[in-house]
Amino acid sequence: MPLIHHVHIAGAGIAGLTMALCLQQQGIPYTLHEQDAKISYNDVGIGLSNNIFPILEKLELLPAIRLMGCEIAQFRFADKKLETLKEFQLAKPALSVNRKQLHELLFSRIDKNRLQLSSRFPAAYAVEEREVVVAADGIHSAIRGALFHDIPIRNSGQVLWRGIACMPLPEDFKNTYHDIIGSNLRFAIIHNRGNYYSWYAITQGDAGKVIIPSAAARQMLMKQFAAYHPVVNMIIHATDNIYCNYLQDIKPADRRIPWFKNNTVLVGDAIHPTTPNLANGACLAIEDVYVLSSLLGRHQHGSIDEVFRQYQRLREAKVNKIVQQSWRLGKLMHQPNKVLDKAMLLGARITPAFVFKRVYNPVLEKVPMLAENVG
Ligand SMILES: Cc1cc2nc3c(=O)[nH]c(=O)nc-3n(C[C@H](O)[C@H](O)[C@H](O)COP(=O)(O)OP(=O)(O)OC[C@H]3O[C@@H](n4cnc5c(N)ncnc54)[C@H](O)[C@@H]3O)c2cc1C
Repeated sequence: MPLIHHVHIAGAGIAGLTMALCLQQQGIPYTLHEQDAKISYNDVGIGLSNNIFPILEKLELLPAIRLMGCEIAQFRFADKKLETLKEFQLAKPALSVNRKQLHELLFSRIDKNRLQLSSRFPAAYAVEEREVVVAADGIHSAIRGALFHDIPIRNSGQVLWRGIACMPLPEDFKNTYHDIIGSNLRFAIIHNRGNYYSWYAITQGDAGKVIIPSAAARQMLMKQFAAYHPVVNMIIHATDNIYCNYLQDIKPADRRIPWFKNNTVLVGDAIHPTTPNLANGACLAIEDVYVLSSLLGRHQHGSIDEVFRQYQRLREAKVNKIVQQSWRLGKLMHQPNKVLDKAMLLGARITPAFVFKRVYNPVLEKVPMLAENVG
């Protein structure tokens, strides 16, 4: 029997939901608190890297997730006229799925008796001796704020617009991730399944601006991307709902702190939000909770601090690498200066494919405590 009697999970995003499933499988009692009245997500795409497939398999989620999306085996960088700059096979294919459906699947597997909706978990909670609080409350974590004041959020100055379109595209868009770059803009098209394609556009902008409705976003994006290949405007035009995010993270150097205090431990975006340039924040969150729940399940004696310390030790180096790599990639792709923009495109063309692979490979690193993992 694990020493811990009860786990409170604050937040039912991907980290909190997956933590609940991991604890459920191990028979560790928990309550999952979500401040919102329902568990859902916008109709957008999400990429899942190959190294977390064994976790999804263990949680008996992988077959259902495979059905809701498709494998992405090919990566293609192109210029705004859709001329290929670089093309390579991913070392291990990823999965591209609809995020709304993913949240629905996770929700469907949760023991509803352990779920409390419209329940905002207090930032300062008096934890009892054999209780643990898992703070899965996202980038603006109030729990992190209460435990470790003043950790600054880093703003990239970039805004990401995204949606899903249903339309036929040529065969070379199938099972492929197109990253179209140039003129200080970026547009990615990722096959989802059948004729569904998720996409995102990155433009320059400040955090804190008002989020505009889809129709206005559509007009604005079609204008901004007018000089791009016509497929870009066709996809934007075919999308009903367009969502907007400001790209932010926390610089690893600004969070050289323990990821825990007083029986409370931070997971996912609550401790290491990352920009989405490597499409890996949710995967990192899933890895976190798998490692943490495995350690909690084995915890028979000693202090809980040692469990949390080990969790942080097993996670920190990889997480920091992804956060930094993703930040640099995001900056590199956007060159406001025309000469540097041309140099970046030329660089993409002449850089050997193995260098690109090296940038993406860290996401595939083994998940600790998962013996059968790939990587
Ligand atoms: C544009 C974009 C694209 C992305 N694409 C990818 C991708 O392709 N692949 C990938 O792996 N990652 C991707 N990510 C990253 C991924 O979205 C995040 O890393 C992931 O959602 C983090 O999950 P989380 O559960 O830690 O936090 P969140 O998703 O933020 O969930 C936090 C939850 O906690 C709730 N909450 C907050 N405070 C409280 C409280 N006090 N009590 C109760 N509930 C509370 C919130 O309502 C929310 O439901 C992307 C991110 C962005 C911005």
